[in-house]
Amino acid sequence: MSDETGSSQILESAVDIAWNVRNNITKAADVVERHLAEIERRDGEVHAFNLVLADEARERAAEIDDDVSVGRDPGPLAGVPVALKDNMCTRGIPTTCSSKILDGWKPPYDATIVGKLRDAGAVIIGKTNLDEFAMGSSTENSAFGATHNPHDLSRVPGGSSGGSAAAVAANFAPVSLGSDTGGSIRQPAALCGVVGVKPTYGAVSRLGLIAFASSLDQIGPMAHNVADAALVLETISGHDPMDSTSIQQGPLEISKELDWGVAGLRVGRITDLPEGASPDVNERLEVAYDELRSAGAEIVDVEVPAFTYGLTAYYLIAPAEASSNLARYDGVRFGSRTEAADTNAMYMATRTDGFGDEVKRRIMLGTYALSAGYYDAYYGRALKVRRRISADFAKAYEQVDVLLTPASPSVAFKMGDKTSDPMAMYLCDTYTIPSNLTGDPGMSVPFGTGESGLPVGVQVLAPALQESVMFRVAAELERRSA
Ligand code: GLN
Repeated sequence: MSDETGSSQILESAVDIAWNVRNNITKAADVVERHLAEIERRDGEVHAFNLVLADEARERAAEIDDDVSVGRDPGPLAGVPVALKDNMCTRGIPTTCSSKILDGWKPPYDATIVGKLRDAGAVIIGKTNLDEFAMGSSTENSAFGATHNPHDLSRVPGGSSGGSAAAVAANFAPVSLGSDTGGSIRQPAALCGVVGVKPTYGAVSRLGLIAFASSLDQIGPMAHNVADAALVLETISGHDPMDSTSIQQGPLEISKELDWGVAGLRVGRITDLPEGASPDVNERLEVAYDELRSAGAEIVDVEVPAFTYGLTAYYLIAPAEASSNLARYDGVRFGSRTEAADTNAMYMATRTDGFGDEVKRRIMLGTYALSAGYYDAYYGRALKVRRRISADFAKAYEQVDVLLTPASPSVAFKMGDKTSDPMAMYLCDTYTIPSNLTGDPGMSVPFGTGESGLPVGVQVLAPALQESVMFRVAAELERRSA
């Protein structure tokens, strides 16, 4: 591929890399060098990474090549570079959540997904930038500076997994992992023109994912294409006895059904979807319905009346859980400490210095929503709305196999456009939040371009554990994307 960025590199898919490395056609060491060179060349302007693990990646690649040379199979992700969002614990390697408060902290253990990736032969190439503690939709809330969209450096990559999305879009790694609490994988994937998947809640272990809102958080893959995302999701999913919310079943099986097409599938069009998507995005959604219809799917109109309340419920539930999860950062056990006269003053000074504005806003909102006298009026009601949303989706899924929506209301916006208006930033999550509240899977698949030639993502939603059907629809859209 040759594009306006000056890259002349062929985009390498994870599936191809693993095949070539396993069959001794390509050396893992060469794959890693090519990606490190690309990082060296362009990450100064993109800033996808908080930390590049060049030495570790080279060592790991050498091990993999040694395995192949003695006839040992390194696994399904042999030699595939993976970029990890910097809220996933890596033993002995700084993990910051892009927050000053975790400065200098090195986790004493690996996240479960890190072990799974390693066992599958993957090479962790670096830790990617995010909105502080995954709170945001533009990666401008990082304490270490914003990430830029590789398609247009004056625009945001989306967030909060903006570093992971940009890393794939800039070809720094063929795949990355993000986390999605209200849309943080799918929205940046849409804005950067890559595939992004939020799996069913509990399908991927959260052990070692630093918690934002525990009842909503999920880890998922981002990739150049649907097949790569399927391969990575198969690798990282499956029961983990160390995560009590992990589903009691084996890894998801997706790849073998990818090419089954959509003939006979019922694809839902939500007639009462909240407004707010821009015309270019809506137009691509209409083209998506047309394409799926011509591929043999039936398009069915459905209502999901409570969809529109998702945003309100989320912005009570997520901050409430965050206020509790972030209470542990008090200058005692983790990261930075600001000294003060006594213990209470030290807690306050540490948290005042260590957290950014958005994180403080969420902690205050959450603490308020949970406080005596307000609990029933805010948090309690939000939980009732959450149940309504689940009931409405369950009813819609009696009539259809999947639902389509925009992934993001617009293409990538200019940096600074929404930083002074939190509500405008929150509205980026309108279409992604409901599936976090229900626990169902959702994914964004690139589907052509909109305003200024920037990527548009279509979101495919499916009922819990129906990832294989969701991926089939995404694969069809990918084959037919202009
Ligand atoms: N943008 C949403 C928020 O700020 C979602 C974040 C996420 O999914 N981690 O909360």
